[in-house]
Amino acid sequence: MALTGIDIFKQLPKTNCGDCGVPTCLAFAMKIAAGQAELAGCPHLSEDAASALSEASAPPIRAVTIGVGEDAVKVGGELVLYRHEKTFFNPCVFAAVIDDGMDAATIDGLLKQTNESRFVRVEQDLKAGLVGVKSLSGDTAKFTALIEKVKAATTQPMVLMCGDPAAIEAGLKAAGETSPLIYAATADNYEAMAALALEHKAPLAVCGTGDLDALVELVKKIMAAGVKDIVLDPGTRNPKDTLERLVYIRRAALNKKVKELGFPTIVFPNEETEDKMMEAVYAGLYVGKYGSVIMLSDLNAARALPLYVLRQNIYTDPQRPMQVKPGIYPIGNPTADSPVLITSNFSLTYFIVSGEVEGSRVPAWLCVMDTEGLSVMTSWAAGKFVPEKIVPFIKGVGIEEKVKHRKLVIPGYLATMSGELEDELEGWNVEVGPREAADIPPFLKSWAS
Ligand code: SF4
Repeated sequence: MALTGIDIFKQLPKTNCGDCGVPTCLAFAMKIAAGQAELAGCPHLSEDAASALSEASAPPIRAVTIGVGEDAVKVGGELVLYRHEKTFFNPCVFAAVIDDGMDAATIDGLLKQTNESRFVRVEQDLKAGLVGVKSLSGDTAKFTALIEKVKAATTQPMVLMCGDPAAIEAGLKAAGETSPLIYAATADNYEAMAALALEHKAPLAVCGTGDLDALVELVKKIMAAGVKDIVLDPGTRNPKDTLERLVYIRRAALNKKVKELGFPTIVFPNEETEDKMMEAVYAGLYVGKYGSVIMLSDLNAARALPLYVLRQNIYTDPQRPMQVKPGIYPIGNPTADSPVLITSNFSLTYFIVSGEVEGSRVPAWLCVMDTEGLSVMTSWAAGKFVPEKIVPFIKGVGIEEKVKHRKLVIPGYLATMSGELEDELEGWNVEVGPREAADIPPFLKSWAS
């Protein structure tokens, strides 16, 4: 980001009208500088200010949208080399590659995986994001028939993969107005591919040969043709070279401001090994550094889920703890006689505690209180998990309608406040649970017996 919040503020109308959703122009400027808002959010910006700011405030790596509507995905738009410097903004996406040489059962199986490979974790919907459609046969009719089939079967945006501009043109017509990613422009076909990308308003992947200087020259020509939404394939097909190129590309874009490398990337772990587990390992490397579109041979749950979780962890804001929604979580069909536990809404705490409760096989009610994502001890020390907050939470969350008894189990680390809480939480007995989550199963078993 070239401009500071103050630089941006100087160009804003300074009327503090609040139409951008924040109370002041300064606050809005700070949000833009932090990459949390876009200039378009201010409807009162003059044309001169908009054009002066838009280029200077654009992220050094362009954000590229693939697809349209609700299932469109945005990749790139990153500002930092390392997640802890700020955050990574637009999660990488995965795609299983379906080709027109596959038999119908294999194609159907991959489409089923594409649609069903979804998991909810920490209230986020985890899924692949894209589907690759590749021409292997060289037969344009087969390629377009496959595109039509994929388009009818899934709403996830496509990557159309073919080196022949004529086949890509037919494929784009078959894809309709879905703005798929075109893969790929090369030194041999870039003029025709660039023209297609412009005509169909589709992003264009540019495939190099492993030589980044040559890739820069190729991208320069494609940018000169007017294409703005570009995705870079370094052209390597082994993990050492690919990882090295991805790091060079990211560093060149951020540190050296090489505009031609300031784009998201596409990588192919599916072409780097025949071993599916190693493919997942390579894909994991690229989740961390710095793959944007990651092509896979399938979305088998045993390999896809760890990749989705890794992506979720890498792309969360390190300055904001992951939180689960406050409320009552029933675990194992609890009844009116089941134990009631309370914990914080720091997601790690929730997962560990709920996992141990589940493992105990004693049905229970887990009350998760809003501690702003802080752990039990941190939130207690910050005054967020204390009797004054717990009492209104327990009285208001609805647990009194679900159980006949009035016994509340608090984390063992909060033993010192048990007396005070019991005095203030009218009608309830407070029981101190274990300090360590691993001791929850024996505790609950003895509680239930
Ligand atoms: S909408 Fe524009 S003028 Fe109004 S407060 Fe926001 S930045 Fe300022």
